[in-house]
Amino acid sequence: MADIDAFVQAEADSLVTELSEWCAIPSISSDPEHSADVRRSAEHLAGLLEAAGLDTEVLAVDGGQPAVYAEWLGAGTDAPTVTVYGHHDVQPADPLDQWTTPPFVPTVRDGCLHARGASDDKGQIHFQVSAVRHLLAADGRLPVNLKFFVEGEEESGSPNIDAFLGEHAERLACDLVMVSDTGMVAEHVPSLVTAMRGLIYLQVDLRTAPADLHSGSFGGAVPNAVAELVALLAGLKDAAGRISIPGWYDDVVDLTDEERANFAALPFDPEEFKAVTGVGALPGEEGFSPLERMSGRPTADVNGIWGGFTGIGSKTIIPAEAHAKVSFRLVADQDPARLEPLFERWVRDRLPEHVEVSVRSFGGVKPALTPLDHPGNRAAARAVARAFGKEPLFNREGGSGPERALSDALGAACVYLGVMLPEDRIHAPNERLLLANYYRGVRAAAYAFEEFATPEVAAALRTPVR
Ligand SMILES: [Zn+2]
Repeated sequence: MADIDAFVQAEADSLVTELSEWCAIPSISSDPEHSADVRRSAEHLAGLLEAAGLDTEVLAVDGGQPAVYAEWLGAGTDAPTVTVYGHHDVQPADPLDQWTTPPFVPTVRDGCLHARGASDDKGQIHFQVSAVRHLLAADGRLPVNLKFFVEGEEESGSPNIDAFLGEHAERLACDLVMVSDTGMVAEHVPSLVTAMRGLIYLQVDLRTAPADLHSGSFGGAVPNAVAELVALLAGLKDAAGRISIPGWYDDVVDLTDEERANFAALPFDPEEFKAVTGVGALPGEEGFSPLERMSGRPTADVNGIWGGFTGIGSKTIIPAEAHAKVSFRLVADQDPARLEPLFERWVRDRLPEHVEVSVRSFGGVKPALTPLDHPGNRAAARAVARAFGKEPLFNREGGSGPERALSDALGAACVYLGVMLPEDRIHAPNERLLLANYYRGVRAAAYAFEEFATPEVAAALRTPVR
C-alpha cells in the first residue's frame, strides 16, 4: 500500500495550508447572513474531494443548507462500502473579543491550527480527504468503495436530515458509516467512541385554579400549583438515583464487562473533575462510576422551573399555575416514541385529580450504539493503534446527534474515527486542532480503509446486521 507516513511528512505544511483555506470560510449555519458562506464552504469541499479523485456533487437540502456528496466505487463487489459522515458548517464565533487571533483567519501557533471549525468539523473531514487523495494518487485505487456525506447544518441540529436521508438513502447506502466528528480522551490516550445518547425534551404545565389567590384569605384550603409541581418532580428519581418512571429501563442495553473495564481504564480524577466544573459532589445512579453515568446510563434533568411570584419584594399569593422543562438522555435501545407516553402517564398518575396538567414534547433523538466487538469497531481500533502507536480504549459520547438516524436510513452500523481533544475548545473561543493528532488522523483513516477491506472484516460488514 502507498506509504502514508512518507506522504504526511512530505505534505505536512501543504495539508495545513489547504485546511486553512477552507477554515477561512465562515460557514455558520445558524446565521442566515452566512448562507452564502455555507454554500461557498460546500463548494470548496466539493473541489477538494474532486481533486482527490472522487465524483462529487453539492446537494441542495429542501429549506436548508447544502450538503456534499462524493463517491469512489471502484473497489469491486467483495469490498465493503463505507460512508464517511461529518459536517462542513460551524458554530458561531462570538464573543469575538475572546479570540487571540480572529476565528476566520486560521493561524498556526504552538503546534495547533487555531480557527473556528479547525477541529469541529473541517479538520476531521479534511484528514479523511487527505488520506483518500494520497491513496488514489499512489495506488490508483482505494481498498474500499467510499462515499462522503458531509452535511451543512449539523450545528443547527440537523433539522432536515430525516427528510434528506429519506430522499437519498439509496445513494448513501453502505455497509459501514464512519463518523468523523468525535474526539479522543487525551492526546496520549487514543480512544474510539462507540455510542451516542438519545434525548427527549418535554414541558409540563400545571394549573390548580383560574387565577392566583390571596394566601391570607384562601391559604390553608386551596391547592398550590408550584407546590404540586415541586412534589411531582422531587419523585422523578428514587433514593438510589434511578429514574422512578415505570418501564423506563426496560429497553436499556446493559454495559458489558469489557465496556466497564474500558470505562475503568479511562483517565478520570473525580477531584480534578469537581474542580474543573466547580461542583461540590458527583451524585448519580448508585453502582455506576461518574464516567459510566455521563454516557452509558439514562439521565433525567429538570432544565427549568417557573411559576407564581418571582418579582422584587413580596406578594402573598397562591400560584394558580406552574411549569417545568424536563429532559432525559437515553441510551440504546430506549425509544423516544415509547418513553414520552410513559412520562406523561407517570405525571398523570402521581398528580391529584384537582390538578390540570398538560405535557408537550419538543422532539426526540434516538440513541446509537455499536457494540465493542462489532467487526467495524475492532478494525477501526487496529487502524488507530497503528496510527497512534498505542492500543485505543473505547468510550461513549454523552451527547446526542443524528448517528442513529444515519444508521437506520443507510442500513449500517456507525464507527467513530475522530481526533478532537477536550482542550480543543470546540464551540468556544480559540478553537484549535492539534496538528500532531490531525496527522495521526490522516494515517488512521488510510489504515482504517485497509482494515475494513481485509477479507474477514469485509465479509462480516457485508452481512446485514439488521
Ligand atoms: Zn461537530
